Amino acid sequence: MNSPLTGKPGEACGVFGAYVPGTHIANLIYFGLFALQHRGQESAGIAVSDGHRLTAYKNMGLLSTVFDQNTLAGLQGDLGIGHTRYSTTGSSTWENAQPAFRAVGHRNLALGHNGNLTNTSALAMRLGSAGGTTDSELMTSAIAEQITKDENISLAEAIAAVLTEFEGAYTLVVMDDSTVVGVRDPHGFRPLSLGRIGDDGWVIASETAALDLVGATFERDVEPGEMVVISAAGLASSFPQESAPSRLCVFEYVYFARPDSNLAGQNVQAARVLMGRRLAREAPADADVVVPVPESGIPAAQGFAWESGIPYEDGLIKNRYVGRTFIQPEQMLRDQGIRLKLNPIKDVLDGQRIVLIDDSVVRGTTTAQLIELVRSAGAREVHLRISSPPYRWPCFYGMDTSDRDSLLAAHRTEAEIAEFLEVDSLGYLTLDGLESSLPSANQTFCTACLSGDYPTPVGDSKFVLEQP
Ligand code: SF4
Repeated sequence: MNSPLTGKPGEACGVFGAYVPGTHIANLIYFGLFALQHRGQESAGIAVSDGHRLTAYKNMGLLSTVFDQNTLAGLQGDLGIGHTRYSTTGSSTWENAQPAFRAVGHRNLALGHNGNLTNTSALAMRLGSAGGTTDSELMTSAIAEQITKDENISLAEAIAAVLTEFEGAYTLVVMDDSTVVGVRDPHGFRPLSLGRIGDDGWVIASETAALDLVGATFERDVEPGEMVVISAAGLASSFPQESAPSRLCVFEYVYFARPDSNLAGQNVQAARVLMGRRLAREAPADADVVVPVPESGIPAAQGFAWESGIPYEDGLIKNRYVGRTFIQPEQMLRDQGIRLKLNPIKDVLDGQRIVLIDDSVVRGTTTAQLIELVRSAGAREVHLRISSPPYRWPCFYGMDTSDRDSLLAAHRTEAEIAEFLEVDSLGYLTLDGLESSLPSANQTFCTACLSGDYPTPVGDSKFVLEQP
């Protein structure tokens, strides 16, 4: 499923966890999740504990519709976790909203997950029908099983005991009545950052922008394979699994993460500008004006304009409030297609040769409408430049692009794509160009959807991975 009205793949969730002694932590988690809303808009949830009793609340919709002052006031305690969800496994239902919750004897357990497991069927078979319908539910059940076996086991020990059963991508925040735990899978597909707040408070979040928003000071990234445990005893770190090569998702830099976040020490906005600069050198265009597809194409368009010397102009204006609407547009409005989201400025585009910059093309349907829109505003030529390589392979690690045949570039050459999109020219950033825009020190990336080079077996997936 495409992200509504963007044509981009959907991100698989934002996670947040915090322990700040003596505070009403639900408010802080709410604001932390606010900064992670872009990672999932289907549902939101918060679980908190006062050290004795764990309370959770979750519902469908945006954070601002799920929580109000009353629901937040009812969530008492100074440690907790939060989650914003975009469903990539399991359907979009209240049951599948997170945090997932289990009562195990006299203890309670809540879990929030970003990523996708690649061995979900095997795990489901082992745990049986009570295990749940999503990979996140299954992980919760596996941890609960350890606590059922040994009620004196610590949460960290229970998690460490089952991690080898999980294959694929998982960044987790897990809590019981007295502890918050953050975990990244050994490849570290999805990011997780650690921050400090006050003298003895700790915060973990999918992105550093969430640390900024709650006034936490960035401490460091949680490492791939690392487990951090936050409790009244402070912070403890361990590496329960064998290390593996780091494979941070390259698409976090291309599209998913917020531009004001830093990943592996590099600011995302700066990386996108570098991608645009490199794109201008690799795929120059003879044109009058550089126009971004807002908003994610803006930094790359700035980079392209600065490098090429072609002036930058905002030629498409985003309707910021067409996000996730609960009212389906009438057919007449649906026919307006992309116009619900973007409106062209005729004065900028009319009679001009445009370099149109977008960060990625996944299925191509929205891009085709976009080209039409730019032409309808009078553009004389449209030269499409994409600040990432062709998206040719499905992602099994947390993006909703599992159907290879739906990917525009899966079985087409660049010339065929240009013809399909009816552009005057087309240029993609190379994989080398993309990687040279990212931090190089001790960091390697997952590029599977762009290269077909999967860092792990894709296990349960039913897809035949033939070459394009
Ligand atoms: Fe990211 Fe692509 Fe790898 Fe998925 S396959 S984790 S989208 S780089």
